[in-house]
Amino acid sequence: MPDYSRFTRRRFLATAGATAASSVLLKGCMGNPLSDTATQQSPAAAPAANVAAGDTPEVTTVKLGFIPIVESAPLIIAKEKGFFAKYGLTGAEVSKQANWASARDNVVNGSEAGGIDGGQWQMPMPHLITEGLITNGRKIPMYVLAQLNTHGNGIAISGKNAGKGLGLKINDPDYIKAYEKTQGRKFKAAHTFPNVNQDFWIRYWFAASGIDPDKDIDLLAVPPAETVQGMKTGTMDAFSTGDPWPYRIVADDIGFMAALTEQIWKFHPEEYLALRADWVDKHPKATKAILKAVMEAQQWCDKPENRPELISIVSGRNYFNVPVNVLTPPYEGKYRLGDGKPEVNDFKAGPLYWKDDLGSVSYPYKSHDLWFLTETMRWGFHDGAIKDIDTAKKLLDKVNREDLWREAAKEAGIASADIPTSTSRGVEKFFDGVTFDPDKPEAYLASLKIKRT
Ligand code: CA
Repeated sequence: MPDYSRFTRRRFLATAGATAASSVLLKGCMGNPLSDTATQQSPAAAPAANVAAGDTPEVTTVKLGFIPIVESAPLIIAKEKGFFAKYGLTGAEVSKQANWASARDNVVNGSEAGGIDGGQWQMPMPHLITEGLITNGRKIPMYVLAQLNTHGNGIAISGKNAGKGLGLKINDPDYIKAYEKTQGRKFKAAHTFPNVNQDFWIRYWFAASGIDPDKDIDLLAVPPAETVQGMKTGTMDAFSTGDPWPYRIVADDIGFMAALTEQIWKFHPEEYLALRADWVDKHPKATKAILKAVMEAQQWCDKPENRPELISIVSGRNYFNVPVNVLTPPYEGKYRLGDGKPEVNDFKAGPLYWKDDLGSVSYPYKSHDLWFLTETMRWGFHDGAIKDIDTAKKLLDKVNREDLWREAAKEAGIASADIPTSTSRGVEKFFDGVTFDPDKPEAYLASLKIKRT
């Protein structure tokens, strides 16, 4: 896999090409001397001016993995806008991962063995890696440090199933349940990695309409390109996916969006920044420098006036490698859903990184870790290894480091109004009227009709 973080200015100029998208990207990158500083300074460089005495990071380098989807924008922006360098991490690298399994394998290796120290994760991957549940029993303790974003994901349906009332609520669940009789095979749905966000969103959506995702349909992990090809040829029916796919699926007439995750659970937790615990324990100051840089990037990303520059940077071939026009609508909160559904046009319906109507996006609420682990129990994942709420709470207390987020926020001078004082965001509400009270996760489980436990 190429290491895009070593993309130098020279190579950049050589490969930028002549498209309008690349020209904008070029302007965005070249206009920022700090991003060049970040790649060219040696690790022995003098500490940055913004680093207070005593806060100098133990190291100037860290290697963070990312997947080329909107969730990773704060990491890319922290690098490209020079926020990592500003806090002394002059050699911070962001490294494109081929897929979630590669990211997992690379964090098991760690950067010293050619892997990564951490980066972007679907949930609860850091908890599962900590427990060895998706790493063949190899336990690599990890710490969750911040949430990267909310929104930006959704449920796409192939055009073959248009006109059948597949929306936020599925009007006729029997249409899907009868698929084996009418089509000779079960309704087939895909996500990109099992037992994490995308799998949870589509399971929640099916189950809310009375469809059992383990019995009534086939639900499996498939690479995105293969899924989209299957949607075109009629062998794949649904895709739990994230921006920029929703735009492409509708724009290219491959299908339509049944629902956006912002409609399923407004301001839901999405993907997170997490690092290997051994790296954090060894480098507490560098960890806080990472957090400060990411927080500054998140604030930058949420300013509407910065979105065109954000798009020009992340659309580049070293990052998402998609045209600017594909990323612009979601970043403006504009979604064409297709299949006769009204269009969404609300900045806050798109990806948000720093703040939303419920408070902090960046803060890693333990109550959200608890939902992911409760949902893990709901579906009986990992042979029931998370056997009860007590086990879940012990695990998240070990993995969630909201304490470091708070310390970093205070040191960075974040307004106290933007630093949550509670570890819980409170009662969460889903589109179907179900609520999750973090103080009573058992009541949530009891209220669900379709579940394994
Ligand atoms: Ca996602």
